[in-house]
Amino acid sequence: MTPEDALKTLMEGNARFVSCSLLQRDHAKARRATSASQSPHSVVVCCSDSRSPPELIFDQGIGDIFVVRSIGCALDELGLGSVQYALQKLGARLVLVLGHTGCGAVELALREANSQGPLASVVSKIHCAVGEGCVPGDAVARQTRATVCEIMALAKALRIEGVRALGAVYNLDSGRVHLMKRRL
Ligand SMILES: [Zn+2]
Repeated sequence: MTPEDALKTLMEGNARFVSCSLLQRDHAKARRATSASQSPHSVVVCCSDSRSPPELIFDQGIGDIFVVRSIGCALDELGLGSVQYALQKLGARLVLVLGHTGCGAVELALREANSQGPLASVVSKIHCAVGEGCVPGDAVARQTRATVCEIMALAKALRIEGVRALGAVYNLDSGRVHLMKRRL
């Protein structure tokens, strides 16, 4: 599937989610069809937030999307390695980075740059991406865009052809996914 077709598939799924008209799926059939191999049409990098489950938001079934989750969509080396795996080994070409309104991780990074334990590295990374003194909505957009840039840089460095990475913001209240304008 081309990145354009994959994006269309995701956005059509989101429209079904918003209108509460999810497809009736035969999960057992999908499970059997994908038990030996997978070829997801998209990679979705999204926040671990319990309110933003990507399979539901995009009304996708088993084998459709390859998901990498981390608070604030912040990727470390391990997360980027997961994206690389989906691109190089599974052939996906669309990477959608999905931030969301009311992201607690981004708000935490705005309030304090220093946390303790392993959380510190995530908060510090988000803090660096969003900078000082911006409102939460802008901060989510900046953080999402920073992750998109990292993925595009990865694809370029590894010469993975045809990758399209873009950012989007999920509205917790309406359920809608809004694509961000590309500014790269
Ligand atoms: Zn979040």
